Amino acid sequence: MTWEKRPVSAEGAPDVADVRAARKVFIKSYGCQMNVYDSQRMADTLAPQGYVETQNAAEADVLILNTCHIREKAAEKVYSELGRVRKLKDAAEQDGRRMVVAVAGCVAQAEGEEILKRARTVDLVVGPQSYHRLPDMLRQVARGERPVDTEFPVEDKFDVLANPTRHATRARGVAAFVTVQEGCDKFCTFCVVPYTRGAEISRPAAKIIAETERLADAGVREVTLIGQNVNAYHGLGPDGRDWTLARLLYRLAEIPGIARLRYTTSHPRDMAADLIAAHGDLPALMPQLHLPVQSGSDSILAAMNRKHTRADYLAVIDRLRAARPELALSSDFIVGFPGETERDLRDTLELVETVGYASAFSFKYSARPGTPAAEMDDQVPESEKEARLAILQAAIERNRQAFNTGCLGTTFDILFERPGRHPGQLVGRSPYLQAVQVQAPSTRIGELASVTITEVGSNSLFGSLAHPAAEDGARLSPAMAMGA
Ligand code: SAM
Ligand code: SF4
Repeated sequence: MTWEKRPVSAEGAPDVADVRAARKVFIKSYGCQMNVYDSQRMADTLAPQGYVETQNAAEADVLILNTCHIREKAAEKVYSELGRVRKLKDAAEQDGRRMVVAVAGCVAQAEGEEILKRARTVDLVVGPQSYHRLPDMLRQVARGERPVDTEFPVEDKFDVLANPTRHATRARGVAAFVTVQEGCDKFCTFCVVPYTRGAEISRPAAKIIAETERLADAGVREVTLIGQNVNAYHGLGPDGRDWTLARLLYRLAEIPGIARLRYTTSHPRDMAADLIAAHGDLPALMPQLHLPVQSGSDSILAAMNRKHTRADYLAVIDRLRAARPELALSSDFIVGFPGETERDLRDTLELVETVGYASAFSFKYSARPGTPAAEMDDQVPESEKEARLAILQAAIERNRQAFNTGCLGTTFDILFERPGRHPGQLVGRSPYLQAVQVQAPSTRIGELASVTITEVGSNSLFGSLAHPAAEDGARLSPAMAMGA
């Protein structure tokens, strides 16, 4: 990947004088969209300190690994990545440069000091609630300290984190994430999130509205509201009352320029009536919903402390489909949860067929220290988990292919996001989040266009502009369109 030098002046335009002085920050994100968003906000917070982002880890002055702790392998991957980082740091030192290495995110939160002990190469450790303290922590490193901050501070980091400049927002593309909620109070027995991200908090609606308006002003057309438990959102509204996620979505849909809204990740229990109604009312709310179920077996759902049954979940889907018949669903599944039998797996497979998911993520259960499920009897052997995962993934893949094949010949709006792999090609997203490759000029990035799906590939769809001539005509002045 190449990188763009983007030193940022107060107005957000690149400042030539700063280019020579700019220090470089490289941030690698693991895991969920929340981490992608947090990485951007860390970069925004370091920009006023003279840091520009680089895609080349070797030349970084500050290298941040924004980690994920959700599964065992993810944390182990970080430690092996730190081995590679040590070589980069040594090479920088031989060049007479200092590379500061930071570990951020949920592994930082969970392991804290332990990271400093296990990896000598790490200079600082910062948990997800303390990113606004990064500039101070870098000053501490310059003084020879190795700071660790994994507090849940009283101040709201969003009040302190710098906003991206218009220039930085534009460089990130036409689809953006906005964190509206963090943390989780659900305590599913397998999950570390309530421990690493803390209790549920919702940002005030006015701040989310202002952030979305800034994004729209910089050319963003699609906004995905994110949170570990996003539909539990209950932020303070500008009217002094608690706003639900539905209320927030209705308000955001009024912002000029915002053509598409999504939200993720939702819990089935928090799928409130007003939110379901919003799916019927709001054309900007895309007909695709990620609604993790984890298992199709009631006894496993109970052992997971999911607080819903299979029937509850299916009833929510029925209500959603009644509000928005074309709604497509995706989910997360865990196989090999302690005590899971072949019968339980069959229930899960049956649920996959009943719902007909457009896509889904599936994982082998990974015992997380400190969570109740890690202490349960009847842990499933690794080889059995692998075999079950393969069966589930085959079923999910059949459903995904069937959904994609069903799109053949249909016409829907595609939001063009970036150039495609081949000259003259653009990649856009369908309402269902599928990547669609279309022959179209690069001037159309950021536009929505009617596209007819002509081919279904293994990872993306191919399409052609439904009305290329008419759309070109619409882009001409009326006089030119009439041949003047
Ligand atoms: N809040 C969301 C929900 O309620 O489903 C999901 C949050 S979690 C970041 C994303 C996914 O990781 C979960 O839906 C679950 O499928 C998976 N996951 C979480 N803990 C896991 C574990 N211990 N082992 C395997 N997969 C896990
Ligand atoms: Fe983890 Fe999601 Fe359960 Fe919260 S609701 S504990 S984030 S899986």
